[in-house]
Amino acid sequence: MNETAKRPDPVGLCPKCGEPVYYVATIGKAGAYVCDGGRECGFLIWPEVAHRKLPPKAVEELVVDGQTSKLLHGFRSHDGKEFAARLRLDPEQDNKVVFVFEDPAPIGKCPECGADVVDKPKSYGCAHWKPENGGCGFAIWKDTAGHRVTEDEAKALLDGQEVGPVECRSKAGKSFRATLYIDPQDGHRVAMRFEDHGAPAPDDEDDDYPEGE
Ligand SMILES: [Zn+2]
Ligand SMILES: [Zn+2]
Repeated sequence: MNETAKRPDPVGLCPKCGEPVYYVATIGKAGAYVCDGGRECGFLIWPEVAHRKLPPKAVEELVVDGQTSKLLHGFRSHDGKEFAARLRLDPEQDNKVVFVFEDPAPIGKCPECGADVVDKPKSYGCAHWKPENGGCGFAIWKDTAGHRVTEDEAKALLDGQEVGPVECRSKAGKSFRATLYIDPQDGHRVAMRFEDHGAPAPDDEDDDYPEGE
C-alpha cells in the first residue's frame, strides 16, 4: 500500500531526525505537525499556541529555520492578556516551541525623532511612543486608505522612497490608485499622490487614516 501518495507536501524536514514533517489531521482536536519518524523521534508542533492558530508560514519557519521571522500578535496568556512574541524551537527542551520576547529587529528609523520603528499590531510605529520616552506619534498605518502596507513598503517609505502606485479604497468604497510617500512638511505623515491628476480627489481621503491605536 502506498500511503505517501495521498499525503500533502511535507512542511519540511524534522530538526531532530531528518524525516519529513507532515500535518496529520487525526491527532488531537485540530491535528498536529508530526515527524514521520514516529514515536521514536516524537517531534510535534501543535497548530495552536496560547489560543492562537499558527499561520502555515510560521510552522514552516519553525521546522526549517527553527524560529519564526516575524512577531506574531494575538497570543493569549492564562489570565486572558493578549501578547505578541516570536516563536522558536528550544533544542535544550527537546525542540519544544517556546516564546521569544526580545524586540524584533527594527525596520527603520523614525523620521520624527530618530528612534527605532518597530512592527506593531496595526502600524509600523515609533518605539518611543510612550509619554516617558517623548510620546512620539509617528506611525505608518498598515491599513493606509485600504492598502495593506507591507514591511518592505514601510522600509522603503522610511528610506525616503515612494511606494506605488498602489490600489487604495476610499471610505465610500471607491477604489483609486495612489503613490505613497512620507511628507516631511506634514509631521511625516504618509501622504498620497494620485496617479491620474485629472480625476477628482477621493471624497474623504483624510478620514481613512485611523487615529491612535
Ligand atoms: Zn523526527
Ligand atoms: Zn519617533
